Amino acid sequence: MNITYVRFSPTANPELLPQLIRCYQDVFSTSPWFEWKQCERDNLKWGKEQASEIPNLQCPTCGDALTDFWPSDVVEHDIRKELILPNATCWLALAEGKVIGFCWGYSLTLAELEVKLGATCAAAFHASFNGTPRVAYQDEIGVIAPFRGRHIASKLFQLRLQDFLAQGLTVGTVRTKTLPPSVTYLWFNRLGYQTIANYNDADGRVVMAMDMRALFK
Ligand SMILES: [Zn+2]
Repeated sequence: MNITYVRFSPTANPELLPQLIRCYQDVFSTSPWFEWKQCERDNLKWGKEQASEIPNLQCPTCGDALTDFWPSDVVEHDIRKELILPNATCWLALAEGKVIGFCWGYSLTLAELEVKLGATCAAAFHASFNGTPRVAYQDEIGVIAPFRGRHIASKLFQLRLQDFLAQGLTVGTVRTKTLPPSVTYLWFNRLGYQTIANYNDADGRVVMAMDMRALFK
């Protein structure tokens, strides 16, 4: 199947936004995230693969009606908020005109990054990357399950990387979890990203970074 890649923004091609929202929900609704339905009272969540555990979409513990983990209005709000930032870059993968993958990010000053992440990391970035004033924040990347393993995420990653480098950004950064190591952590670790800051929380959240110029193909 022919995969095409298009640059996206909510203002330039708003007709793709509903599809992007569905794709986002689809990506996170299955393994390894299992973010399909939730019980807000019990702070529990289920993936689509676990549908048999929640007959009638009721919480097995408290009986409450389950809600969507990622409601459309919440996803739309987040996408609009992030993609309106100056220098935001977003790419979509389409198969037969349907959105099956996405990737976006934007640049931040170190002060903005500290606010965004709620972590003290500016000094560590200065020390590791020779006083870089701005970094490329690599926000979201995802491909729906039937299309994984076809290098679509790698292509999306490269398109975003190309935009970042064209903006003069050299340092890429991402936040992820290490307890247990998330897919994101393992992927960026394999690429050569180093841990720059540590939250020391129950999820083992870390901020990772590297000089992205080494990654451009
Ligand atoms: Zn419950």
